[in-house]
Amino acid sequence: LDLKGIYKWVNAGNNRTFLLKDINLTINEGEFVSIMGPSGSGKSTLLNIIGMLDDFNEGEYYFLHESVHKLKEKQRSDLYKRYIGFVFQAYHLIDELTVYENIETPLIYQGVKSAERKALVADILDRFQIVGKKDLFPTQLSGGQQQLVGIARALIGKPKLLLADEPTGNLNSAQGEVIMQLFNELNKEGVTIIQVTHSEKNAAYGSRIINLLDGMVQK
Ligand code: ADP
Ligand code: ADP
Repeated sequence: LDLKGIYKWVNAGNNRTFLLKDINLTINEGEFVSIMGPSGSGKSTLLNIIGMLDDFNEGEYYFLHESVHKLKEKQRSDLYKRYIGFVFQAYHLIDELTVYENIETPLIYQGVKSAERKALVADILDRFQIVGKKDLFPTQLSGGQQQLVGIARALIGKPKLLLADEPTGNLNSAQGEVIMQLFNELNKEGVTIIQVTHSEKNAAYGSRIINLLDGMVQK
């Protein structure tokens, strides 16, 4: 993916606040990149733009062979569903759905047939060793287990790009380690990963660090 001269701002009265300024960035297939920087430096905003969850005001964004800046919302959303998995710090699981149903949800949106959904969910439950939790609800799980479910849900559609905003932010260090080792394995299997993290230790799992300060990439 390629970001060229990306600006993001918000207007409040006569004041314009810049969240991102002149972001120029290339991230290649197969990379494992960490975005770091102080609180408020624009990390989440940047990740959300890369993940097509957020708009930007100026600049160009190329993803695979698409010009994202030229796409309509529906087309962007289709691109997201097809290629991107997003892991949230606060898990964002649906409390009314079981573990099984949470993980299955993206496949339903993708129109995958029931028998195939069953097989795919069974595979990932097995891989993440959470088969025994499949009929529980999110509130019945520990933080680490909820994050595994969040990652399983992000991965079930076989995304090329996994985006994660502080994926271990609410976890203890042993749970965090499990998640980072999992990211490492996924990356070795070819998934491109971009994570926002405050942790030097987490960043060390990746191969490159992008430092943000006041909405700008630090050289
Ligand atoms: P980080 O993830 O590095 O903590 P964010 O990307 O969340 O930073 O936010 C960058 C800055 O922009 C922060 O100061 C935040 O308060 C501000 N901000 C984020 N979104 C909005 C918005 N929609 N309107 C106004 N300010 C915002
Ligand atoms: P964490 O540090 O990840 O929050 P917890 O101390 O909350 O871990 O959870 C430890 C264990 O207790 C986990 O195996 C989890 O499944 C179980 N558990 C946590 N909360 C509940 C709950 N509300 N009901 C049933 N089991 C729970």
